[in-house]
Amino acid sequence: MKAKLRHYTVEQILEGFVYNELEGKGLFGLAGKLVIQPEYQRHYIYGDGKRDVAVIDSLLKTYPLGLIYFNVNGDSLEVLDGQQRITSVGRFVTGKFAIQVDGNEQTFGSLPKDAKDLILSSDLLVYECEGTESEIKEWFRTINIAGAPLTHQELLNAIYSGPFVTAAKAEYSNSNNANMQKWSSYIKGDPKRQEVLAVALEWVAASKGETIDSYLAAHRYDTKIDGLKKYFTSVIDWVDSVFTEPRKEMRGLEWGRLYEEYHKTAYNAAKINTEIIELLADEAVTSPKGVFEYLLSGKKKTELLSVRLFDEKTKKVAFNRQTKESEKTGKSNCSVCASVKNANQSRIYKLSEMEADHVTAWSKGGQSGIDNCEMLCETHNRAKGNR
Ligand SMILES: [Zn+2]
Repeated sequence: MKAKLRHYTVEQILEGFVYNELEGKGLFGLAGKLVIQPEYQRHYIYGDGKRDVAVIDSLLKTYPLGLIYFNVNGDSLEVLDGQQRITSVGRFVTGKFAIQVDGNEQTFGSLPKDAKDLILSSDLLVYECEGTESEIKEWFRTINIAGAPLTHQELLNAIYSGPFVTAAKAEYSNSNNANMQKWSSYIKGDPKRQEVLAVALEWVAASKGETIDSYLAAHRYDTKIDGLKKYFTSVIDWVDSVFTEPRKEMRGLEWGRLYEEYHKTAYNAAKINTEIIELLADEAVTSPKGVFEYLLSGKKKTELLSVRLFDEKTKKVAFNRQTKESEKTGKSNCSVCASVKNANQSRIYKLSEMEADHVTAWSKGGQSGIDNCEMLCETHNRAKGNR
């Protein structure tokens, strides 16, 4: 890969700058010669009133903005690294946001002439790189923009850029998509940071036993995303049909895996809904996120709920009660040991050798209070299993 160092002024770079509000990206510069956001780039994310303002503050203090990289692509140039900084300056100069100067809001237009000139004449240091597509992409994989590292999916989008990623982004990375609100009840993450797309790809790839990488590599030049959409919709529709009401605890669960594991089982949605309400209200359930798979499993995977165990004080009270009783009878303070004729029948266990057991199992409505607590020796408690 060849790289040549060049200097540009902000004014040169911004000649013909266009910011597209709808797509949220800066488009062109250098009088049309520079493509600010090529297909493989992420969206503009500096427009938060902090990072964009910081870029302008740096210019006004004559701090360098750092190295910028362009990719030479025939007669045109594409921004490899520096898109966020260039777009921030471009948006400021075209009046899209204001900064605070000595406590006053200032747009570019309202700045004094010397400050305007200072910004426009700022020197930008640019490496213009020329190489094969794979060289450029390999290099792009290794860069990490300070303060805003690429998400894993943003990197994959760069590496596998093409018609498939473009179409997939139009569907899953578009916050204006009418379905996005519904999807975000089940999926955690910011569509603009490609986090919804990552989940959609993860689901379909896992269903085929593939990684996202291999799935993207295989479909890179497809112009349609039918397979991806079909699978994603199947998962979402299934979740909707089993759990009729979206709840905040459902966000970010592994719905793709759960769909694969449980979608062939029939569920009574009304009954499930009632049970969810009960479980979420149950103070003994300390993992509310586990409620959904617990019910899908036919209440077999109790461990998902992390049911609150007896506290130390309760255990001690039960232990003392049982030990006092066994002093009278001469039998073991473990009731199971006491009932079996062998060497342990009269053994008195120490507190540390015993474990608390629900007399009435939690899953049958038993509470974790003293009335429902019995201490058993480790062996017998474990033999009873997780009830
Ligand atoms: Zn025992």
